[in-house]
Amino acid sequence: MYLKSIEVHGFKSFANKITFEFHDGITGIVGPNGSGKSNVADAVRWVLGEQSAKQLRGAKMEDIIFSGTETRKSMGYAYVAITLNNSDHKLPIEFDEVTVARRVYRSGESEYLINGNSCRLRDVQDLFLDTGIGKEGYSIIGQGQIDKILSGKPEDRRELFDEAAGIVKFKKRKQTAEKNLEEEKQNLYRINDILSEIE
Ligand code: ATP
Repeated sequence: MYLKSIEVHGFKSFANKITFEFHDGITGIVGPNGSGKSNVADAVRWVLGEQSAKQLRGAKMEDIIFSGTETRKSMGYAYVAITLNNSDHKLPIEFDEVTVARRVYRSGESEYLINGNSCRLRDVQDLFLDTGIGKEGYSIIGQGQIDKILSGKPEDRRELFDEAAGIVKFKKRKQTAEKNLEEEKQNLYRINDILSEIE
């Protein structure tokens, strides 16, 4: 699996629709200060489901929508799509190519898409579980993140190892099963209460 392309439109400094194509080997993005290099990494983080404006170096989520310049008016929405080659089927989906997209409007309305089909944030998160690619994954190492990992709590470091070992999805499933079990227990208590009232 590898990243084939990133398409951005209306995201931060990218007012025009633009597609970055990636090929074999290492790709470097170079440019003057403030030209938008980090915005490319922010776009990937965002499409993977980042919910924190701070992580995207903004104050509020609306800050990721192109805010206009002296010569160009602001945009009403931001759109990012990443396309991954999935011919090795590392992503648990039958397609050889997977495009994950996210769009947000100034009104706050937003949507996620997997291969053009509308889906939930949870579906995007589940797709990338244990691949290291999710927004909490280790495939995007931001400035200062190494220091944070080294000086962080052991539990936080453990999360990285869990992701690399591929056990996060099992942990998540266990949590969901435990939550469902607890809800069923509460339902049983209620039924028993009602039964004892009737008897
Ligand atoms: P450096 O080399 O200094 O780290 P960089 O190339 O990584 O810089 P970025 O931090 O990616 O640059 O981009 C910063 C630019 O993005 C600034 O010029 C800023 O005005 C612009 N920018 C950020 N958000 C928006 C937005 N919502 N609308 C328009 N422009 C934006």
